[in-house]
Amino acid sequence: MPEESAYGEKHQPFIGITTFMRCQATRNLENVDVAILGIPFDSGTSYRSGSRFGPRKIREASLAIWGFNPYLMVKPLDILKVVDYGDVAVVPPSIINTIEVIRDTASSILSRGGVKIVSLGGDHSITFPLLGTYFEHYGPISVIHFDSHPDTWSCEFDNQPYSHGTPFRRAIIEGYIKPNGYIQVGIRGPVSSVYDLKMSVKLGASVITTKDIYDRGVNSITDEIRNLIKGPVYLSLDIDVLDPAYAPGTGTPEVGGLTSYQLLELIRQLKGLDLVGFDIVEVNPSFDHGEITSIMAANLTFEFLSLLAIIK
Ligand code: MN
Ligand code: MN
Repeated sequence: MPEESAYGEKHQPFIGITTFMRCQATRNLENVDVAILGIPFDSGTSYRSGSRFGPRKIREASLAIWGFNPYLMVKPLDILKVVDYGDVAVVPPSIINTIEVIRDTASSILSRGGVKIVSLGGDHSITFPLLGTYFEHYGPISVIHFDSHPDTWSCEFDNQPYSHGTPFRRAIIEGYIKPNGYIQVGIRGPVSSVYDLKMSVKLGASVITTKDIYDRGVNSITDEIRNLIKGPVYLSLDIDVLDPAYAPGTGTPEVGGLTSYQLLELIRQLKGLDLVGFDIVEVNPSFDHGEITSIMAANLTFEFLSLLAIIK
């Protein structure tokens, strides 16, 4: 009989069964620091659907990440016990039922105490129930939101308060986000009117545009973020904050965005903040070429795990 296991980190990326970076697939949270949670839901999408296939693709791309982070000088999986919790049992025809099941699943993880959730989306509507669950367990927290879109519209379709364009307005109204603790980073692109941009400021957001990042440079931006953020902070990352050249696989691309390197540096320089949760959303494999977008998403998740390892 061959001695090799059917599963495990010693395999080459193209071999074996896929979980995020080959972390154990389990719902046993004993001594666990981080639970990777797939949320394959895209019925909150207003334009090109398909991000329900994001979590699986990100897991697959993660197999080629070798483990040591030479920028942050840390090997996160040696420091953190990370498990792949699997996916939320989403309900494609019902965003209301999906919001409930995301909250139930996330709550069962956070109620263990000390376990942080790293969610793989899915469209951006999943962030609203995640922030709701964090609010239940932490009270109001700060949020850093990377996106080309503000996602603070009141609704995208008549009488439909929940979709991928509304999660942050809903979260602010519900009181999930700490006043003066909400920053949008990377906003750009044409909108319907100037009011679309003003509304997030009206809701209390600090807005850093893509132009600000190019004009001022990454270091000045992360200094500003560090000055604003105090206490526990949640990071929500819409992959469309990147230029479509670096992230073609997404539902609503906007031209003139960040490079991969700029975004990686923005994330790395959040080192030391009290990060408590993370989601990466809007990875849409149907529009991806050469897996550019899912590879980037897997690496961004790895950078986030590295930040968690540093503060452990
Ligand atoms: Mn978004
Ligand atoms: Mn977006």
